[in-house]
Amino acid sequence: MNAHASIPATAGCGVEIRQEYGQRAVFCGLTGIVWLHRKIQDAFFLVVGSRTCAHLIQSAAGVMIFAEPRFATAIIDERDLAGIADMNDELDRVVGRLIERRPDIKLLFLVGSCPSEVIKLDLSRAALRLSKSLAPDVRVLNYSGSGIETTFTQGEDACLASLVPDLPSEPAEAATSLLVVGALADVVEDQFARLFAEMGLSDVRFLPARRANEMPAVGRNTRYLLAQPFLTDAARALEERGARRISAPFPLGAEGTTRWLQAAADAFGVDPKRFEVATAPGRKRASQSLDHYRERLGGKRIFFFPDSQLEVPLARFLSREMGAELVEVGTPYLHRAHLADELELLPRGTIVNEGQSLDDQMDRCRAAKPDLTICGLGLANPLEAEGLSTKWSIELLFTPIQGYDQAGDLAELFCRPLVRRTRLEV
Ligand code: SF4
Repeated sequence: MNAHASIPATAGCGVEIRQEYGQRAVFCGLTGIVWLHRKIQDAFFLVVGSRTCAHLIQSAAGVMIFAEPRFATAIIDERDLAGIADMNDELDRVVGRLIERRPDIKLLFLVGSCPSEVIKLDLSRAALRLSKSLAPDVRVLNYSGSGIETTFTQGEDACLASLVPDLPSEPAEAATSLLVVGALADVVEDQFARLFAEMGLSDVRFLPARRANEMPAVGRNTRYLLAQPFLTDAARALEERGARRISAPFPLGAEGTTRWLQAAADAFGVDPKRFEVATAPGRKRASQSLDHYRERLGGKRIFFFPDSQLEVPLARFLSREMGAELVEVGTPYLHRAHLADELELLPRGTIVNEGQSLDDQMDRCRAAKPDLTICGLGLANPLEAEGLSTKWSIELLFTPIQGYDQAGDLAELFCRPLVRRTRLEV
């Protein structure tokens, strides 16, 4: 595949944005099931795919043979591919058996994959048909987790976007409400709910909710705040329902969390003194926990490969709060509007590279010899073998990292590989 890069553009904030096209190395959107199935407690994710897809999510999630898992794969086999079996009949049979055995399932996602897309299996029609036959006990939605031209966090985006048309409508006369969008660990969500309540914002909802029948209402009086930077389609779907976005950086690190909360406070006219009182203890705790890691991360040269779409907020955290130096910040996609506040905060001259040309980026990384490289699983081993310290970007999705009380854990994730390398060298 030929790679090429476009002419660099300098954003208004002094960040140099480059675009690159070529070979990519990323996981597919099925990976999102690993954290989404823990979040929506009565949902089930049925991947319609191949043995490769089944293998991917089982190894990503760690197989829980002792528990009733909330995801599975309906395997498309040779008979299906040869057209001997009717795929829709097969799917109805699999879903029927599943629901009979698992009456706890209230929301079923049919998750498309590369094979289901290649054979053009229409999962939206299947979801409609099954929703009708299983109503009112089970709702069936569909989205694609396929790895063709996507990256792994887009699975969550597609899943949340599929929920939006189904959300209840908020009455036109309802007071303005705040909707936090993006899957957060329950512990983080509870902390944010408490902080918002202390700021005087009691009507705060979260998407996704923890249970299918608790999904938030949405309408023209909804202001939404993104908790994750990769929710392009979900944001678009919410705006189609009349909701308006509150522009903010993302709640990573003490500064990111304060600015994120501040954006909501400003949008809802929270008294600055009340904001100060509500956030001061958390800011203090976060800043104390970060002190511990600053010495180890300060001055370290960091290189991001494009993988999770969390790269720009993470780079901002590492450079501004930890004193790290950014060699290159790769990101698979750069949503200019959603990331505008983050780009503003990056040091002048930071190189943000959108897209990927794997070989070129590997060459640049090797030449730069960064102290720490944040990359996908597939790149970590070869880079480690060449003597570079790496951090798997996927860990940043599996670990609660948002908010004041997780700021230290976030810094710790970046410190660990540096400590390990020091020990190896000793
Ligand atoms: Fe592989 Fe595509 Fe299945 Fe993902 S969806 S595991 S990329 S075949």
